[in-house]
Amino acid sequence: MLEIEGLEKSFGDRKVLEGINLQVGKGEVIVILGPSGCGKSTFLRCLNGLEPVQAGRIHYRSQDLAKPDVDFREVRQHIGMVFQNYELFPHMTVIENILLGPLKVQKRSRDEAQRQAEQLLERVGLLDRKDAYPRQLSGGQKQRIAIVRALCMNPEIMLFDEVTASLDPEMVREVLEVILGLAKQGMTMLIVTHEMGFARSVGDRIVFMDQGKICEISSPEQFFTSPSTERAQHFLDIFQ
Ligand code: ATP
Ligand code: MG
Repeated sequence: MLEIEGLEKSFGDRKVLEGINLQVGKGEVIVILGPSGCGKSTFLRCLNGLEPVQAGRIHYRSQDLAKPDVDFREVRQHIGMVFQNYELFPHMTVIENILLGPLKVQKRSRDEAQRQAEQLLERVGLLDRKDAYPRQLSGGQKQRIAIVRALCMNPEIMLFDEVTASLDPEMVREVLEVILGLAKQGMTMLIVTHEMGFARSVGDRIVFMDQGKICEISSPEQFFTSPSTERAQHFLDIFQ
């Protein structure tokens, strides 16, 4: 479904991604782990056209997303992304935030889009907050809304970049449960997280990155019990 080959990314003369190869199958959940600054966010951003890349290929829907002329407005309808800091529009209500993309970008009818938005809100337990403004919501609620907003575009792939990192511990769970639910439904996802228990339970494969490179790709079981690189072992030691 998504095939990444020899991806390279630099900021100025500083290389931050080097020789990244990864194939993601339909319905697969890839969890990306690695120390701070190793390039996890940059990698996800490259897949969504938020960062131009210097070399390599990203095959998706018979296009190469690494080329400079890609229409990412179109691509982002299929590859949704959720960030650490929600990025909801503060002057819009929950439902207005969610409907913006479906109405303005996808030109769908308000009735149909609203019906889907309400179903999704119901699923994450927030239908009763649809007319609230972001400032009236908790962090965990805002993050669930940000996920619903991405899902309401009917994406094929979801990218999650540390979506629980800004949350108080008691709100982490409600957000992770939404993502676990998506995994059960067969959503294809790439997830960057520092929640190791969650990584182990949600991931089909763990991708461990260090210094801009993929060091290791393993099953969660293998990664968490006997990682094949010393760097991964060191990374795990810090968390355990
Ligand atoms: P963290 O776990 O802290 O979120 P990360 O693995 O997501 O880290 P990135 O944010 O992808 O790391 O950053 C990778 C490297 O690229 C870092 O050295 C960072 O300083 C650098 N970098 C990221 N964005 C930019 C930018 N816009 N301009 C210059 N350098 C950048
Ligand atoms: Mg990051």
